[in-house]
Amino acid sequence: GGEPCRGVAPPLGRVSLVGAGPGCPGLLTVRGRQRLAEADAVVFDRLAAAALPCDLPAAVELHPVGKVAGTHPMPQEEINALLVRLAREGKRVVRLKGGDPYVFGRGGEEAEVLAAEGVPYEVVSGVTAGVAALAWAGIPATHRREAVRLTVLPAHEAVKSDGPQVRWDLLARDEHATLVGYMGVTALPAVVERLLEAGMAPETPAAMVEQGTTARQRRVVSTLAGLQEAVVAAGLGPPALFAIGPTVRHAERLDWYAALPLAGERLLLASSSARLVSTLEAAGADVVL
Ligand code: SAH
Repeated sequence: GGEPCRGVAPPLGRVSLVGAGPGCPGLLTVRGRQRLAEADAVVFDRLAAAALPCDLPAAVELHPVGKVAGTHPMPQEEINALLVRLAREGKRVVRLKGGDPYVFGRGGEEAEVLAAEGVPYEVVSGVTAGVAALAWAGIPATHRREAVRLTVLPAHEAVKSDGPQVRWDLLARDEHATLVGYMGVTALPAVVERLLEAGMAPETPAAMVEQGTTARQRRVVSTLAGLQEAVVAAGLGPPALFAIGPTVRHAERLDWYAALPLAGERLLLASSSARLVSTLEAAGADVVL
């Protein structure tokens, strides 16, 4: 309590590393929504922008740092420095990242910097694309008796030569597993080659999902050996991920999202009637207020 003394630094702010979810704004968590509503500053990646609520306080500082699938328009060091600076200014900072902040988004590195600089921070976990985009494409990440393990990897691991290596030999022999490749478009041919070389069956079910959980979602379902050709034929591009494994077989039968009457529709609404919004969303529409 009491009057703040002149010359004393403002109280240190804090940084919330918030997962924005995979694209559908409804998949932002309740806590993530709360942190955004209380924020003084939001530092967000391009993939996370869809989750930004339209009713953010007008005074909030917005810092787009433009990170999208592998390209980093603002260097990571500058993002780290920005987070530290904003927190030192006493601000409540939301660092909004696509999916879950600790799954392939360099969230761990940002937390390390905050910890080293003595900036209070927390992690608000999010729904990772590797689980949700598959679900919206009809593919359960795991399934009793079929897939009892889930492996997520950044697909470009297949084309790098330094650092820890992926054990393609083990993955190829793991029949009761789902393998999910993030950043999966460019490196797909290399991944397929590694797995086939290591003895995985060419007919193993495989799929690619682009812009999952949004009205722009597209998917192709094929086999390990046929996936690259199918992806090229359909013209899929980032952001997309692939799944390889037995549960991909369910994709046709469990295609609940595409079956919704308004799937693929993106509606701009000038009304904020909660009932109208939830009715349209339940029918599959992507509603932008
Ligand atoms: N932290 C994020 C992943 C960041 S890496 C998460 O937990 O989901 C970025 C990669 O995530 C993209 O290249 C793509 O492979 C995948 N991705 C993100 N959103 C996606 C979406 N809506 N549909 C399909 N893939 C997505």
